[in-house]
Amino acid sequence: MSPPDGTVAAAKPAAGCHGGTDTMQQAARAAGKSALLDRLATDYPKGPHDQPQSMCPAFGALRVGLRMRRVATILSGSACCVYGLTFTSHFYGARRSVGYVPFDSETLVTGQLFEDIRKAVRETARPADYDAVVIINLCVPTASGVPLDLLPKEIDGVRIIGIDVPGFGVPTHAEAKDVLAGAMLRYARTEAEAGAVARPRTELADGQRVTLLGELFPADPPGVAAMLAPMGLAIGPQLPAREWRDLYAALDCSIAAAVHPFYTASVREFAAAGRAVVGSAPVGEAATADWLDAIGRAANIDAVTIDRAKAQALAPIRAVMAANPVNARMVVSGYEGSELLVARLLIEAGATIPYVGTALPRTEWSDADRIWLEEQGTHVQYRASLEQDIAAMREVKPDLALGTTPLVQAAKEIGTPAVYFTNMVSARPVFGAAGAAALPAIVAAQCKGRERFSRMVGFFEAAPAPTPPPRTVTRPVKAEVV
Ligand code: SF4
Repeated sequence: MSPPDGTVAAAKPAAGCHGGTDTMQQAARAAGKSALLDRLATDYPKGPHDQPQSMCPAFGALRVGLRMRRVATILSGSACCVYGLTFTSHFYGARRSVGYVPFDSETLVTGQLFEDIRKAVRETARPADYDAVVIINLCVPTASGVPLDLLPKEIDGVRIIGIDVPGFGVPTHAEAKDVLAGAMLRYARTEAEAGAVARPRTELADGQRVTLLGELFPADPPGVAAMLAPMGLAIGPQLPAREWRDLYAALDCSIAAAVHPFYTASVREFAAAGRAVVGSAPVGEAATADWLDAIGRAANIDAVTIDRAKAQALAPIRAVMAANPVNARMVVSGYEGSELLVARLLIEAGATIPYVGTALPRTEWSDADRIWLEEQGTHVQYRASLEQDIAAMREVKPDLALGTTPLVQAAKEIGTPAVYFTNMVSARPVFGAAGAAALPAIVAAQCKGRERFSRMVGFFEAAPAPTPPPRTVTRPVKAEVV
């Protein structure tokens, strides 16, 4: 039986952060978090191995909270975890305070940590400043059973959102974005079902709207809107949202477009609200045609109108692709969730891509892209590990490797041109004609580096081994995280 609000059973101390996944899982289950772990395992299935190499998954949830107006985000976890997460947040320009409730073994064991969290939440929940306060349990508080579900649901009109985002339950930071986005959407859905809610700041278009799921390059949503307009469809605020009131408008759509295919908890809320969900995305010619068909059908648009929208969207994409052919052998890997889409676009532009690795799991919303890629002879590896990515790169011997930081490092060590997936993709449009121009351009530019890399490898192989300096200063290297 759960203790009432205000009293918390003493938590058993969990093993430390390095206790191992099994130990932490056992501790969390013993502390009453079995239902949470079962839900996470269903939403974010692991395998073929346990977990792709990645940064602390909680960063994804923290980032979603920090990017929202009038939302305060508080972490509950070990100081070393919080240091890393806040460092990364500010490195990426959060320009927002991150709240922290520290603990020691005594406050953890006695249940005082929960009291400290509740106090912090009460002090932070100022309606003049915030619409919502997010409190995130990291590994140790989750494994110790700190019961965020016993926090009040709102304080003076400020919503309180408590989520567990343990590294031993959420495989990637991408999926951690979904943990928070889904929790907020669930809260907003219950509010909308209960009565009138606030409208978004920007005027909503009349008629049926499509909500895009995924963090997108800013030029992409307007590009998608232009493709949908001939069918009389518009786009609303996308998810993850930038403000609480946008959540209602995002829910108030006809179709949720899972252009990033890993928002499982968020999709569940759209489904609960009776919205249709469509996978894949408008990249290149074939996928754009299929996507517009699927969206049009889901919105009950007649076939003639759908065909007219396709004709308008596809002509410029076709022209741009013809003018920007790609002649390169590549491997593609990353942890954004858009790896399959990018590979589709590049293959259509002329690239040969025998391998695509993604840290994300297989979901039904990427099935069309997977099937298309497999028909082209591409091996699609879900939950890809760094070892699999590197092995594929060595086997394929690509002209260009598009991947994560360690893959790029491994590629450059053997003289293979390589570019960071995130830096390339998140800084450029992917959809429609704009994407068809942007991605081939960077591939062409980067492939020219092969001769330079070969010279560098030759130079260092010929050079005598350097004498190690007496002391080195390590500077932080900017990792790619979106
Ligand atoms: S919260 Fe968990 S996964 Fe994240 S840094 Fe701490 S121990 Fe690692």
